[in-house]
Amino acid sequence: MSFWDIFYDNGGELTTYRECFEQAVAAAIAGATVLTANTRSARVVRAAAERQLLLSKPAWVTPDVLPYGAFVEQLYSESVVAGVMEAQPVRREQELQLWRQIIERSPSGREMLLPESAAALASESFRTAMEHNIPLDSPLMSVSSDTRAFSEWCAEFHRQLAARRWTCEAMFTRELAPRLSALRLPAQIFVFLPETTPAQRHFLDALAEAGVRISIAPELRCGSDSASVRYEFDGVADELRAAAQWARREIEAASGARVGVIIFDLNRKLPQVESAFRSVLHPEHLLGEETPCPFEIASPIALAEYPVVRCALQLLSLFAAPIDFHLFQSALSSPYLAVSPEAAARFLVRVKKSARRLVSVEDLARWLHESNELPGLRAALERLPKHAAFSSEQPVAYWADLARRILEAFGWPSGVALDSEEFQCTQSWRELVASVVSLELLEWRADFRGFVARLERAAAAQNFKPETLNAPVQIMDASESEGSVFDALWVGSCSDDLWPDSPKVSPLIPIALLKEAGVPLVGTPQADARISRITSRLLQSAPRISLSMARRTDDEREQRWSPLFTSFEAASEPIEQPPLLAEQFAAVSLEAIWDSKAPVLSSGEVVRGGTSLLEKQSNCPFSAFATWRLLAKEAQGPNDALAPTERGKVVELALQLIWEELKDSEGLRRPDRAAVVEAAVDEAMARELPSDADEWSSRFRDLERQRTIGVLTEWLALESTRKPFHVLVHQQPVEVELGGLKLQGRIDRLDEIGDAHVVLDYKIGSSNRVSAWEVPRPRLPQIPFYALAMLQQKMNLAGVSFGIVRKGESCFRGYLRESELLPCARLTKRNFEGIAFDEYTALWAEELKRIAASFVQGEAAVDPKIPPGKNNSSCEHCHLTALCRVGELASDDSDSETEGENDE
Ligand code: SF4
Repeated sequence: MSFWDIFYDNGGELTTYRECFEQAVAAAIAGATVLTANTRSARVVRAAAERQLLLSKPAWVTPDVLPYGAFVEQLYSESVVAGVMEAQPVRREQELQLWRQIIERSPSGREMLLPESAAALASESFRTAMEHNIPLDSPLMSVSSDTRAFSEWCAEFHRQLAARRWTCEAMFTRELAPRLSALRLPAQIFVFLPETTPAQRHFLDALAEAGVRISIAPELRCGSDSASVRYEFDGVADELRAAAQWARREIEAASGARVGVIIFDLNRKLPQVESAFRSVLHPEHLLGEETPCPFEIASPIALAEYPVVRCALQLLSLFAAPIDFHLFQSALSSPYLAVSPEAAARFLVRVKKSARRLVSVEDLARWLHESNELPGLRAALERLPKHAAFSSEQPVAYWADLARRILEAFGWPSGVALDSEEFQCTQSWRELVASVVSLELLEWRADFRGFVARLERAAAAQNFKPETLNAPVQIMDASESEGSVFDALWVGSCSDDLWPDSPKVSPLIPIALLKEAGVPLVGTPQADARISRITSRLLQSAPRISLSMARRTDDEREQRWSPLFTSFEAASEPIEQPPLLAEQFAAVSLEAIWDSKAPVLSSGEVVRGGTSLLEKQSNCPFSAFATWRLLAKEAQGPNDALAPTERGKVVELALQLIWEELKDSEGLRRPDRAAVVEAAVDEAMARELPSDADEWSSRFRDLERQRTIGVLTEWLALESTRKPFHVLVHQQPVEVELGGLKLQGRIDRLDEIGDAHVVLDYKIGSSNRVSAWEVPRPRLPQIPFYALAMLQQKMNLAGVSFGIVRKGESCFRGYLRESELLPCARLTKRNFEGIAFDEYTALWAEELKRIAASFVQGEAAVDPKIPPGKNNSSCEHCHLTALCRVGELASDDSDSETEGENDE
């Protein structure tokens, strides 16, 4: 006769879930050890018992309520300490490594591509087999090659554990059962579990035989005993906001109310749920106010996802192998480092410009060496071993110690005072590292990269749920709600594809054996009983229940109600949608003021920007104001092998070096011209590109070198078709005073052709057209500016031209007094309205003065020369859209003509 027949306290009567819960609380008050399904349930039962004890007693012993798994683990630890059990329990990482070794060494596992996944699956399947007493040596295990292999792995697993005198969690109760009489056991146990497996029943039987009085929570009556209504919404966002609004109403109506929100697919919707509840229940948080949050989301998240752990993993990854710049940036900006945030931000902005997509620890060391922004970090990193030492295979404890030193060097996690959740995360992180270090007992060795990869995998596999703080609104999924009761409950996502669910089935155990063992497989009576029990439990967890569903998912899939909830009435009153955040925070109704004027530039105020300032003011006054007075500059980089500006700089510098050597058109005839070009390119690349380069970048540079030599050779061939000329200057700085501003620029090149002078501006893009110099509001006013500078220096300026230095498209595009000065395409009358060059330079002078003066006067209108939506819009490559909000401006001129390029 089993204990089920002996100790079924209520004589087989069915009861409701809330009554069950009250029995568990009463048992805890009476001094029984109460075993629950999970930690949350243990906490809820203990809290309820303490509330009642508080009313009747001045002092009491803390009720002994704990999850079943923790009870078994505790009993096993005590048995080891007492010398009753000899086998040492393995840690999770050790168990997985043991499975992995067994799989990799087995004939079937040698070809396996993902031994880690196979090890996790084998461990999980072994646990299922142990819980349901499935005979792993049954002839049925030969049904397929997978199940046969699993059977062999399990036999080997048992052998290895026995040889090392180890055991694992799945075997605790089997090993403890015959030795219970030698242990100190509680006098009475109340089992508050949703259902029990054969292994649990066997263990409880053994406890009963050892003299423990076992009581078990009675079976649930089917169906609902609460007032339940249904709500239906158009989409998921509406559903979540309504749930949050409902929760708010509940806690406002009754202080101290315990409000539950269960969402079947909570894990998939976590960010949406957090955002909806935050905006309705805790909007002040968005204003930075430190008020207690009235809700908690009890969803286990991988430890690796918590910011404090993510930061540690990113830092260690940097030492293991180059990491993506954005990960590096995220790690260095983390508040958990003892690094000044301002200094870190300055450092990152500086290095980002020249950074490549991947950042290595050597890059970091070089950047720190080049500056004094983070001296503490530089000194700390210098004390660490050089990176080459990280590639040898070492014992795990060695790497764990180095990992600790690396994190200490960055001051992790002392940058901020940790809150409770962060503190618990760091504790869990330390346990995780200890678990990985325990692999030493299996002689596991790795290089630092392997060690960090192991930590990452372990942190990603470990679900972590900080101990909660008992906020009035508790949000969870169905499994987490096991063992909890509420004053009011909302059950969301009640669609037929989410409930009933389909429990996972191990592919390593034959279905016949699973069925025989009573595992609840879809379509079996056990599965039906499980669904009925959980549904009844949910519907009996509170006296008032609201069920909800969105008709459409976010990806526009239509949803239907789960048949288990269709019998409930639709709610007679809709839930009022909460106000939007903008409405909540709007103290007064907003008044729109059209303001396009910035303060006038005060005399003596220095504004940098040079010709770029003119370009921005001409194209859109607001962009000049934002960039050069608000300093709203775009962060540059990181880049692939070459930054966009670097290619242009290399070409410009190489051409300067070539003309310093060749001097004039005569020099083009030199027999060593090719060698001059090659030497100039090499020199320019050495000067303009970072000196260190990984293998990929080096190969890329080789290709870039060949490409640049080819382009310049083609360009010089074009130059040799010109009239005789002499290169006067290259990269010549100039300064011009315009409308009260002193503006600087740099002329790429000035040629002397006979007695005339021509300004050349190199471009490596093919889209630069001379129409960009036309007044009013020239799109590229640099060339008119250089023209003005040369005229002020009394040069006989006879033309300006782009030099398009581009493979297959090299050409001159210019505006000249006489067409034979340069071999440009002939200009049509549409350009510069047929006005002669010398007359047009006067128009340029006037227009540039007007543009500069408008900047000085604070003209800052959001007025792009070519509005968004048109070809070559001024906004196309502008980084200020979020600031200027050009998209919100009414586009009255949407039918105005598209500006086309009109030169030929
Ligand atoms: S996005 Fe357009 S309108 Fe806005 S600042 Fe830039 S150029 Fe001006």
